[in-house]
Amino acid sequence: MRLLLRNAPFNLYTCGVFFFARRPQERGTDRTDPYGADSPTVRVWLKRDSGQYWPSIYHAMPSPCSCMSFNPETRRLSIGLDNGTISEFILSEDYNKMTLVKSYQAHQSRVIMILFVLEMEWVLSTGQDKHFTWHCSESGQRLGGYRTSAGACGLQFDVETRHVFVGDHSGQVTILKLEQESCSLVTTFKGHTGGVTALCWDPIQRVLFSGSSDHSIIMWDIGGRKGTAIELQGHNDKIQSLSYAHHTRQLISCGADGGIVVWNMDVERQETPEWLDSDSCQKCDQPFFWNFKQMWDSKKIGLRQHHCRKCGKAVCGKCSSKRSSIPLMGFEFEVRVCDSCHESITDEERAPTATFHDSKHNIVHVHFDATRGWLLTSGTDKVIKLWDMTPVVS
Ligand SMILES: [Zn+2]
Ligand SMILES: [Zn+2]
Repeated sequence: MRLLLRNAPFNLYTCGVFFFARRPQERGTDRTDPYGADSPTVRVWLKRDSGQYWPSIYHAMPSPCSCMSFNPETRRLSIGLDNGTISEFILSEDYNKMTLVKSYQAHQSRVIMILFVLEMEWVLSTGQDKHFTWHCSESGQRLGGYRTSAGACGLQFDVETRHVFVGDHSGQVTILKLEQESCSLVTTFKGHTGGVTALCWDPIQRVLFSGSSDHSIIMWDIGGRKGTAIELQGHNDKIQSLSYAHHTRQLISCGADGGIVVWNMDVERQETPEWLDSDSCQKCDQPFFWNFKQMWDSKKIGLRQHHCRKCGKAVCGKCSSKRSSIPLMGFEFEVRVCDSCHESITDEERAPTATFHDSKHNIVHVHFDATRGWLLTSGTDKVIKLWDMTPVVS
């Protein structure tokens, strides 16, 4: 992984490969001046002959920008705003001109996610008003909506089956089937203990990845139809984005801790076991502290209950004193295992199935350009970094 570009131009919010939308400072300069130095703008940065990126054209926006989606085939740039509007621009071939073509009054409040689906000519979006909506990008007309249980940060679409995946702050993933002007609920998934922060759909293997503020990623095997859900644990903070490199079958996850993890998805992983419940340690039979009767009978002080991550058995601290990584169960970090499981795990099984990289900033937004193998990260430090991922994603 090689750093190609490091730039610190703005307090940017979100980006395509070279689109940067800027939000005004929370304090300070006058926000009412539409052309003031600190008003919300969208700016196009072009790579010059010198190899440096320089700002080219820009457009002042009536409200701060909250998200964007760029379609290179049509050079269509859709931008979501804090006031609930989606503004759609077309960029000229040389990227030196941007023309506002349409505005959708999509939400009552901030637009959280936008997804443009060229095949359907649909603009899908989620908002802080807890709604998922979709519009026809040809007519500009609203086609329908669905109320989610919370604001949604994850939005993915499967063109073949017209299923939309919406992951929300409550931790739920809702799957809807979209028709031209109606939608129906297919199912909901709930596996995270925190809100869903990112979704990634692989239409070839038909698996959905969900990332969460609980630091974990879950791989939902939808195509397999067996309801398998594999956990991936490799971050120390909330997941900020998930991207998939189809040609190499690698998942790239970025965390708020600045970690970039590249997961080898060719590896056959197993589901984590259900945690068993027991009144006493399933290894040494010592009672756990809530088992008053047995404690009284045996005149012993109860122990704290722990769980072995490999076999799921309820065990005491003494019988689970060792730690191990279990990459084939998605645990890239060391976790608690019971003593007998610790003995059974071979060194081969401990070999990592992911590589770990440090972006050295707290990642807020990410864009992965799969054709070039470039990853763009923007951080809380207001810095944009462009990474060449080809040494690791290959
Ligand atoms: Zn024990
Ligand atoms: Zn065990």
